[in-house]
Amino acid sequence: MEKAGQRYSRQREEILKIVRATKTHPTADWVYEQSRHKIPSISLGTVYRNLNLLADEGIIRRLVFEDGKVRFDGNVDEHHHFVSTKTGKIYDIDKKYSQELIDKLYQDTGFKATVCKIEFFGEVDSEEA
Ligand SMILES: [Zn+2]
Repeated sequence: MEKAGQRYSRQREEILKIVRATKTHPTADWVYEQSRHKIPSISLGTVYRNLNLLADEGIIRRLVFEDGKVRFDGNVDEHHHFVSTKTGKIYDIDKKYSQELIDKLYQDTGFKATVCKIEFFGEVDSEEA
């Protein structure tokens, strides 16, 4: 018989696995649909709670884009995002693109940025509508 603590940690592990296995920056609803394949009894509330706990602990990232939807990112390395205005897909962008900006800002103004978050919006050449 599974104890409650074990059940909670199993749910949490499963949710974390799902978020880390995708690059789509999923919403809680999407994670919920995926998690039901493994844990049919899981509730949407449990998924929300675990996603927020994991984000609060810095194990995953919580993102809010212009559409107001909350999304989750299993990639916690510093990076930026590109949102396709055609499909709404969100792509990871390497942090190297902000380093030049950080250097230029410092040269010009003396502001020494340690964090820089950039959201790009536009179209992607290789993308089908
Ligand atoms: Zn990302």
